[in-house]
Amino acid sequence: MKKKNSKSKVKFIFVTGGVLSSLGKGIAAASMGALLESYGLKVTLMKLDPYINVDPGTMNPLQHGEVYVTDDGAETDLDLGHYERFTHAQMRKTNNVTAGKIYHDVIQKERKGEFLGKTVQVIPHITDEIKNRILLVAEGVDFVICEVGGTVGDIESLPFLEAIRQFRFDINPKNVIYVHLTLVPYIKTAGELKTKPTQHSVQKLREIGIQPDILLCRTEQKLSKDIKKKIALFCSVEPQSVITAQDVDSIYQVPLALHDEGLDKIILRKFGIKDKAPNLSKWQDINVKIQKPKHEVEIAIVGKYLDLKESYKSLVEALYHGGIGNNAKVNLNWVDAELLEGNENGSDLFKNSSGVLVPGGFGDRGIEGKIRAVTYARVNKVPFFGICLGMHCAVIEYARSVVNLKNAHSSEITSNAPYLIIDLLPDQDVKGNKGGTMRLGEYPCQLRKNSFAYEAYGTTEVYERHRHRYEFNNKYRLRLEDAGLKISGISPNGNLVEIVEIEDHPWFLAGQFHPEFKSSPMEPHPLFQNFISSSLSYKEKN
Ligand code: GLN
Repeated sequence: MKKKNSKSKVKFIFVTGGVLSSLGKGIAAASMGALLESYGLKVTLMKLDPYINVDPGTMNPLQHGEVYVTDDGAETDLDLGHYERFTHAQMRKTNNVTAGKIYHDVIQKERKGEFLGKTVQVIPHITDEIKNRILLVAEGVDFVICEVGGTVGDIESLPFLEAIRQFRFDINPKNVIYVHLTLVPYIKTAGELKTKPTQHSVQKLREIGIQPDILLCRTEQKLSKDIKKKIALFCSVEPQSVITAQDVDSIYQVPLALHDEGLDKIILRKFGIKDKAPNLSKWQDINVKIQKPKHEVEIAIVGKYLDLKESYKSLVEALYHGGIGNNAKVNLNWVDAELLEGNENGSDLFKNSSGVLVPGGFGDRGIEGKIRAVTYARVNKVPFFGICLGMHCAVIEYARSVVNLKNAHSSEITSNAPYLIIDLLPDQDVKGNKGGTMRLGEYPCQLRKNSFAYEAYGTTEVYERHRHRYEFNNKYRLRLEDAGLKISGISPNGNLVEIVEIEDHPWFLAGQFHPEFKSSPMEPHPLFQNFISSSLSYKEKN
């Protein structure tokens, strides 16, 4: 490890998971962040992912869910999205580290001769690299909450667990706690909650040398005092540190539910921090809106990664935030783009929806269906929101149907179309390497006044996050504008089209960027807010 940080006052909370995956470690970590912030403490979060990919950028969203993009252009695990939505922490490249990245960097150092002839080993070289990465995010904060991906017992996560075990003794042990998330299943036939999986999971963790300080027990039913005592006894934790993490209807209820269980007070006590009254009023406010919305609206999402809804995680959350901002419940109508292709009755799929959204995506599957969805929304004057590939579809549709450029297309889909309305920039070369060839991260965008975009943002310059290779082809800009397509957002040098709109429409806006990455329940993104409000008006009128 580079520096012995024994004087550091930063506190570290390591979050591990046991029994099975998908218990909600990311939400638990994010909720702890939210609770600590409610005491005025500054937190950051980080995720250690045990897989060998250097980053999730090239992974199929159907395998691993959405790729979340940060301001500085890192392609990261979707849990970083939860961290940014639940707290004020700003995620950067350094906040997500995979095993692949760690090994890659250590091997590069070895090739450069940096280990001076030593045998390079998991302990100490890999574990040192991991620990240095953890210290790297600890600048300027009171707390680092570090989540270890995977499940205890996996071979893959061992170097990470070993590193966090060592970490406690590298710095002041008083500044480190371990929180373990487990499952306490309810067995119907026995009519009982069962503690054995938790016992075994903690045993596994202890084998590695980690004794958890707090157990978050994911469960369908509240844990009784007796069950907590039993778990405490078998797992060597205090009974108060056995926390019920009961299923709730909305993820935004989790911070309050954990607060009711006393989690924040226990964390503060374990670190010897005097607690004062937390300020959770904003969380309480949004939960009232979530639980008792005044309105309701259905939005159609026309996509192709529908078998794993996690592929659209931030998008779905941003729609819910738009709902919270309008005091409305948003119901989602998932429309498989391929079902719209060559289907005369395809528009029936939209019949109860008051807004249509075509999200980002890659490749040609379902593309014609997405373009048909745009036609439906444009012609029937249903509020429409296109995001990234969704904007490409909107522009192609306009070129084909309004400008009469037959078979207009994107060069992502075909290089043979007569009009490549969406194309690579002239100097862009993506042959060979698929990783790291995209426009990634935050870019400025200038807005035209008198537009849906300006109306939503209320300012003329905005910064939004990108993740794409293809752009609006400037060769066709004037023709499309002459035919009524409004370009309401451009890059400061004027070269890149960022937002297009159609004026004679209640709300038709498509953007080259991903606004969903910048939305939170407390601060719904302005475009989602206005898309939902237009959809509500559409519902009222129709
Ligand atoms: N596939 C398109 C591109 O690479 C759009 C990407 C996206 O929707 N994120 O440009």
